[in-house]
Amino acid sequence: MIIEDDPAIREELVLLLENEGYQVFTVTDFAGIKEQAVQEHPDLILLDIGLPDQDGFGLCAALRKALSVPVIFVTSRDAGQDEVRALSLGGDDYITKPYSVPVLLARIKAVLRRSGGASEHTDALEAAGVRLSLTKGSAGCSIRSCGPS
Ligand code: CA
Repeated sequence: MIIEDDPAIREELVLLLENEGYQVFTVTDFAGIKEQAVQEHPDLILLDIGLPDQDGFGLCAALRKALSVPVIFVTSRDAGQDEVRALSLGGDDYITKPYSVPVLLARIKAVLRRSGGASEHTDALEAAGVRLSLTKGSAGCSIRSCGPS
């Protein structure tokens, strides 16, 4: 999911990511971003900091409360203080514009890998050491201590 108000950058990101085989959802109505994110339940959010009527920092905090999704800030602001703030508000990574395309793609891959990727985390629910697979209809232990010894 791309949250970026500059149409040129947004379209560039869409093309770039679709070429890599990602399904891309873009926000064009900036009033209800959180609701759209909850509805789309993306695997990853690319988030601009300078947005109409709000900034990406506050939005990141709100998104974090509403759903568990990794967030990569993509921004033209490159002050170190912004980076610290972005990461401390729950951002998973921080990329400054103009970005290098291979670096951007590698960071997206890395964050998706850490978060369990696109298909895996929607397949299973995990709580208290029990892993419930929604597609296999099975339950299993996800921590060693609850298995047979
Ligand atoms: Ca912007």
